[in-house]
Amino acid sequence: MGIEATPRHATLIVAPNWIGDCLMAQPLLMRLKAQGQHLTVLAPPAAAAVFRFMPEVDEVIEAPLAHGKLQWRMRRQLARELRKKFTRAYVLPNSLKSALIPWLARIPVRVGYLGEQRYFLLNQIFRKEKSAERAPMLQHYAALAGVSDASLPNPQLQIPATLIEKTCAEFQLDRARPLIALCPGAEYGPAKRWPAAYFARLAELVSQAQPQAQIILLGSAKDRAIAAEICAATSTPPHNLCGKTTLAQACALIAASNAVVSNDSGLMHIAAACARPQIALFGSSDPRHTPPHSTQAKVEWLHLECSPCFARECPLGHFRCMKELTPERVWGDLVLLLQG
Ligand code: SF4
Repeated sequence: MGIEATPRHATLIVAPNWIGDCLMAQPLLMRLKAQGQHLTVLAPPAAAAVFRFMPEVDEVIEAPLAHGKLQWRMRRQLARELRKKFTRAYVLPNSLKSALIPWLARIPVRVGYLGEQRYFLLNQIFRKEKSAERAPMLQHYAALAGVSDASLPNPQLQIPATLIEKTCAEFQLDRARPLIALCPGAEYGPAKRWPAAYFARLAELVSQAQPQAQIILLGSAKDRAIAAEICAATSTPPHNLCGKTTLAQACALIAASNAVVSNDSGLMHIAAACARPQIALFGSSDPRHTPPHSTQAKVEWLHLECSPCFARECPLGHFRCMKELTPERVWGDLVLLLQG
């Protein structure tokens, strides 16, 4: 693993499991860096790449810890390797398991929200807000560094230009032609996903109006079925890259895009942190809580009387929050974005 000798003010960050939450934590990292902390992030492999694009992060350790699993031996081994290396730890997930490594590593100051009654694992404990008055996630994390200011900087990823060029070349994308990224996945559940048929219709509208545009589908291997559905419903199928890129390559392709259309997902937050023109489609979730933090973002949210319900699947069965958000409406937004 090759963990460096302890610098003074060495701080371990136990990263969240979701990519979007990792980006929401960046203002906290910016603040800790400004306080002179040397930052090492312990991150799941599925999210580690985004921390490598954050200039305030000094080191990233990938920990193959599965979400929801104890993996006691692995945690104990990792803790042994981290022992005497850190003076402080910030535990960003709320689970009891996520606080084990800093405790086992005997890091003297362990900061986090109370979460699953983890009184003895943490020793600087913050209380979570009640869900009715949930603060935006940026503020939720930044509060751990004592920041109560609502005007926090937006997350910002620095993607190397060489990586962007190399990735576009690898996937045979012409840098001289417009690139539109469609991100049809949302790992949380179908209630956050705009229908595949709507993405397909949007791709058709783009192709008809801008035949020179290259349309790519971005997402993980879990989004392959949705991507296949979109491709099957289009006369000129988009470049389907779901499951074919690494996360770092997906970041590079988003950074290369002229516009990004996505659900409320990790890729939405990446597009925001790359300051790309984007349309963010919200259904069951709440853009007041986890918006794309970017001046380039247009949020589409119908805010029906039943939303946000935060459900993984529509509990009412009609799924109006997404079905009534038509491709023609989103296309209208996209035209304006591409003109701007
Ligand atoms: S209950 Fe309403 S907000 Fe929730 S998924 Fe169904 S239509 Fe969408």
